[in-house]
Amino acid sequence: MDGRFTETVTHFLRQRLNVDHVNLLTGPGPVAGFADGEPDDYVAPILRGVRLSVESLGVRSVAIMAHQGCLGNPADDAVQRRQLFKASEKLERELPGVEILPLWVKLDGAVEVLQR
Ligand SMILES: [Zn+2]
Repeated sequence: MDGRFTETVTHFLRQRLNVDHVNLLTGPGPVAGFADGEPDDYVAPILRGVRLSVESLGVRSVAIMAHQGCLGNPADDAVQRRQLFKASEKLERELPGVEILPLWVKLDGAVEVLQR
């Protein structure tokens, strides 16, 4: 949702995955919803878009991103990173055979792929 990170993340993913385009599915702090419970009313549409991308477009890599200064999920960095880790494990179970990249992005634009 936060436009401060759009260019950073799409640029990173185009290079990392060697692709021309990146589908962006955004919402207010969805890692919290993914990590902490069943998909709620704002996580469900994102998951639907992810499934469509995988099933209809042949997408083989899905990044899930959290960032410092998130308005939708104003938890501290350590909490957000734990949620991101947990959310990525859940996505991996939902999407077998698809590469899941958990991205932690700092306000200065640094992108880290969380190691799992
Ligand atoms: Zn955010």
